[in-house]
Amino acid sequence: MDLNYSEEEYAFEAKVKQFLKDKLPQRLSDKVKGNIRLTKADMEEWHSILNAEGWLATHWPVKYGGTGWTPVQMHIFEEACSAANAPRTVPFGLGMLGPVLIKYGTEEQREHYLPRILDGTDWWCQGYSEPGSGSDLASLKTRAVRDGDHYIVNGQKTWTTLGQHANWIFCLVRTDTECKPQEGISFLLIDMDTPGIEVRPIITLDGEHEVNEVFFDNVKVPVSNRVGEENKGWTYAKYLLTYERTNIAGVGASLNGLEHLKVIAREQQLDGKPLIEDPYFARRMAEVEIDLDAMKTTNLRVLAAVQGGGAPGAESSMLKIKGTVIRQEINDLTRRALGPYAMPYVHEALEEGYNEPPIGPEYANPVSSDYFNNRKLSIFGGSNEIQRNIISKMILGL
Ligand SMILES: Cc1cc2nc3c(=O)[nH]c(=O)nc-3n(C[C@H](O)[C@H](O)[C@H](O)COP(=O)(O)OP(=O)(O)OC[C@H]3O[C@@H](n4cnc5c(N)ncnc54)[C@H](O)[C@@H]3O)c2cc1C
Repeated sequence: MDLNYSEEEYAFEAKVKQFLKDKLPQRLSDKVKGNIRLTKADMEEWHSILNAEGWLATHWPVKYGGTGWTPVQMHIFEEACSAANAPRTVPFGLGMLGPVLIKYGTEEQREHYLPRILDGTDWWCQGYSEPGSGSDLASLKTRAVRDGDHYIVNGQKTWTTLGQHANWIFCLVRTDTECKPQEGISFLLIDMDTPGIEVRPIITLDGEHEVNEVFFDNVKVPVSNRVGEENKGWTYAKYLLTYERTNIAGVGASLNGLEHLKVIAREQQLDGKPLIEDPYFARRMAEVEIDLDAMKTTNLRVLAAVQGGGAPGAESSMLKIKGTVIRQEINDLTRRALGPYAMPYVHEALEEGYNEPPIGPEYANPVSSDYFNNRKLSIFGGSNEIQRNIISKMILGL
């Protein structure tokens, strides 16, 4: 695989950079750069700008409104967006449900749901995890019982990211209890406005409202909202997860984080010298930079596999582990670089319009928030321990 860009790819990169210069609102990139909280309206604004350009569903086929880009183009786009501090698009509809509907949905489902994901009519969230079923997802208990042309759904989902904004949820539900756990699961699309659904916030370590619990009490869901066959949902669920994991690699975010860390390490002093010259600190920074470089190559390999028609396989688990370990290491080094200034974390300072003077350097406040928030990276999308189990079985054959 040639890792140098071709002339056309350099031209594409220039086009993307020009687009970002012209169309990315300064207000949004300032917010992303300063780690100021993005509102639902902010996320929708960037979503619709990308949609107007036809650059939203970067890995869907053109037939369904995707870009039809090559893996290298997708990579160039992701890097350029991160470097310009563009908001990340919300992945649940675009990156997760979309590919599942394209592969396993009916033509009616594709025609109905895909355009609504693109134009922002529907905000999807993911109803996989339950209080007793995270890593052992196949043990899930939310029940869907057939009643004519409907299912009646009862149960509870948890950790539902941005579920407070969503009007639709894709759910794994148990439709058969008399078989092996993996064989009795179905994949349902549920309108969040259906009577019997309640969303309750969970506040995370950094004080944010990002995740929720979702309760289902006799929720009536049309059978036509099922994706694929009854009791075969596990197959679709696993296909979706490989996409989720690949997206978590976050190469662009790590590159940005590393650049920011270097700026801080040049400014902060240790024993009268810039921290970046301290051999211990410099070694850790070099290690993480080398790992990041290696991961960029793996990321391109996985994208090439997707482009060839396959779903990303166990490589997506490699990306998930490596990507999250790298981002957490960068967070940790940044927090350490700031020393005591990382301690006074002012939650309100991440709101738009906050104008109190910062405690310490301007860039200090979001560092702890990022550090705490990103503890989640090695847990969600299937914890890193579980990804290691997958690699040991699928790649090493253990
Ligand atoms: C911030 C955040 C957002 C999330 N968003 C969503 C969402 O939008 N939708 C959704 O459905 N879910 C979401 N999740 C849930 C996420 O997928 C689960 O948290 C994850 O799969 C782990 O499950 P668990 O939390 O139940 O931990 P458990 O499964 O209870 O695991 C606890 C610990 O034991 C380890 N462990 C468990 N089994 C094994 C094993 N067999 N071998 C080795 N180690 C093992 C785990 O790695 C972990 O360290 C989110 C989670 C977080 C933290």
